[in-house]
Amino acid sequence: MSKKDIETSFETLKQTVPLLVKHNIAAVPTNYALWYTYVSNESPQLNQELEQVIETGQAMSEVKTTELYRQYLAEKEEVDAWQLRQSMEAMLLELSQSMKDTRADTNDFKTVIDSSLDNLAKVEKEGLSVQEVMSLVRNMVQEVQSIRQSTISFSGSLHNAEKEIERLKSQLQESQQAALYDALTGLCNRRYFDSELESKLGMETVSLMLIDIDHFKKLNDNHGHLMGDMVLKAVAKKLQNACRDNAQVFRYGGEEFAVLLPNTNLKKARHLADVMRRAVEKVAVKDRRSGTMLGDITASVGVAQLESNEKAAAFIDRADKLLYQAKDLGRNRVMPIL
Ligand code: GH3
Ligand code: MG
Ligand code: MG
Repeated sequence: MSKKDIETSFETLKQTVPLLVKHNIAAVPTNYALWYTYVSNESPQLNQELEQVIETGQAMSEVKTTELYRQYLAEKEEVDAWQLRQSMEAMLLELSQSMKDTRADTNDFKTVIDSSLDNLAKVEKEGLSVQEVMSLVRNMVQEVQSIRQSTISFSGSLHNAEKEIERLKSQLQESQQAALYDALTGLCNRRYFDSELESKLGMETVSLMLIDIDHFKKLNDNHGHLMGDMVLKAVAKKLQNACRDNAQVFRYGGEEFAVLLPNTNLKKARHLADVMRRAVEKVAVKDRRSGTMLGDITASVGVAQLESNEKAAAFIDRADKLLYQAKDLGRNRVMPIL
């Protein structure tokens, strides 16, 4: 975050809190996020909705808050998770209803059987007519049929529920997958990187590489975006294969990759960076349009080792500055030189 960003966000914050107080709104994260966005005027539509709420002078219900948050601020993965939970809940409700129905049917059945048995006992004691006995038996047969039907329909619901659970499970997996992995290269994505880096800040020794493909825009321009994508995949694979000692590769952004190196000092990290740089030089992708092999792919790398008490942003910033030094010095190199 630049100094300007921090100043702006501080200004927004200073205006958000009085708003919450003025309209008597609880300062919980969801409300805070909504009204912060209101003040920063990022979403005119959201502002319109909130202004309507202010006009009515009524306190905003929790449901309305959640709805607005979901509509304007939540990320796709969050909405997915919501929807999944709702489908789960609906399914469980249906299942428990059909369980209740079955139980009620079973109870009715028990009552009928009990009274039929009583009546049958009377057959002996009181000498019922054949017709009376037949009617008792018919009654019981009917009850048996209806309980059988109810059991069948319950087992049907169970079966459907099982299928639904399977579907939801794989959907959940997919959405978790999408939240953490990059679709093109299959590498862990930026979001994953941020959380991994955060978890490693307390470590004694950890290093970071930022790798940026050189002149990638030109490659796209000359050979098309699809070729660009293929090169990205090939580079990702090379980097992944070159990884060792728990190093993790991430797609950091467009044609940028990050490598996190736990328990690795700058010297070792720099060495691996050079191995990776040379691996990228070996990437070759065939251009199907012209039938030629596309080579000469290079990347520049900035490497930094975490300093004590350093924050994630500062750490990344140092690696980024070194990456840009590598670009300035002519690309296809690792900085610092050491
Ligand atoms: P430099 O050597 O200074 O890094 O130059 P560059 O051209 O690599 O850098 P620049 O930032 O100017 O351009 C990066 C290009 O990467 C622009 C963008 O279109 C392309 N790009 C980003 N993501 C993708 C992607 O997923 N697929 C493809 N094909 N291109 C992408
Ligand atoms: Mg770049
Ligand atoms: Mg580049």
